Amino acid sequence: MSRFLRPEIDFDPDKIVLCANCSTCRWTCTSYEEFQTEAMFAGGRLRLLRSYVEKNLPIDDDFVRTVYACSTCEQCVERCPIKLPYVEIIEDVRKKLVELGKGPYGRLHLMGDFVQKVRNVFGEDPQTRGDWIQEGTETSTDSEWGYFVGCTASFKRKEIADSTLRMLNYFGIKPQILGPDEFCCCSPLIRTGQLERQVLEEAEDGSVQDLGTLKVEEVIMHNIEQMEARGIKKVIFSCSGCYRTVTLDWPKFYRATHGILPFSTQHLTQFLALKVRKGELKWKGSFDERVTYHDPCHLGRHVGIFDAPREVIKSIPGIDFVEMERSRENAKCCGAGGGFKAGFGDNAVNVAADRIKQALEVGATTLISSCVFCKLNFLDGVKKRDVSINVLNIEDLFVDLMGLR
Ligand code: SF4
Ligand code: SF4
Repeated sequence: MSRFLRPEIDFDPDKIVLCANCSTCRWTCTSYEEFQTEAMFAGGRLRLLRSYVEKNLPIDDDFVRTVYACSTCEQCVERCPIKLPYVEIIEDVRKKLVELGKGPYGRLHLMGDFVQKVRNVFGEDPQTRGDWIQEGTETSTDSEWGYFVGCTASFKRKEIADSTLRMLNYFGIKPQILGPDEFCCCSPLIRTGQLERQVLEEAEDGSVQDLGTLKVEEVIMHNIEQMEARGIKKVIFSCSGCYRTVTLDWPKFYRATHGILPFSTQHLTQFLALKVRKGELKWKGSFDERVTYHDPCHLGRHVGIFDAPREVIKSIPGIDFVEMERSRENAKCCGAGGGFKAGFGDNAVNVAADRIKQALEVGATTLISSCVFCKLNFLDGVKKRDVSINVLNIEDLFVDLMGLR
């Protein structure tokens, strides 16, 4: 394959040709399970990409749709015998498509538009970002602990933010919360290739207004500066997507000019597991149910945190813990990540409904996860399947058992 036959798709083709075409990655692929077509798994997508480059094909809507119909769950990378960095490649392709004005797919651009306008992906009033904070909970302006809430818990699943704050308060921590000064972590934008692009808005009179250039780096730097200015040294996360992005992606933007991040990052399951290990977590109640745990892709495969949540769950008195057939490194994706829920909503809910089925198959009455986005999609999946199963995050269960709400 020559260096590039099609200059528009300008990335290193050597990465694509490494694919051995073995299709090992097909059978557990989130998008293949849903769409059942040959282009809709890592190997198939790479073959398609190769033919577009080699045959100099024009970038059409089908190609763009295929590139975006992937939840970036990394199940394929886990199975790939040569560990081809498929997700890095596909995120690179998405970035190129955005640069060319051909991406992102469908309505995914709205997330970028909203971040440019109001600094959250839902288009919500940024001044209300901290409105989930309830009476009886405590925050501070001088703690070394910060809680990075994220867009979804701030606006769509406020009970998760409330549970996390109550959990921290229980252990004597009154974290700093940035409220309106917290901007999106940029996970949805990085995953969908919207790192830098012009944002235009059509006014009611049909005129087009230029809202400037969205630059993910600026949004990220704002968040880091806010935390640094407040003296925050340890940041805790309830969202696995935020945690992954701040831990793995932010340093790439920050390192070149500033060095290492001025704070450490911790997912709340790590925080609780440490409390269990130190004997500082004495459960007050028991939870007499059969429980299974769903590994969020961003916490599990992406960062490698599999044991901490299980340690916490298994320490709860009364719990009958059971693994689903696909768990840990092989866990099935919930269907919400990588822009999949925003771009392919019905398919994403189908994926969640299928994961719910897997939980029911092992007799679980409660499905626990540790990601705001997983919980959001599972609740939609339960509705779709019309079944009875509790969907909880670890922090919800903590607050219930400890009688904190
Ligand atoms: S990242 Fe997930 S959805 Fe995308 S190709 Fe790989 S297994 Fe399929
Ligand atoms: S498993 Fe790896 S080498 Fe095989 S088709 Fe998939 S990406 Fe290519």
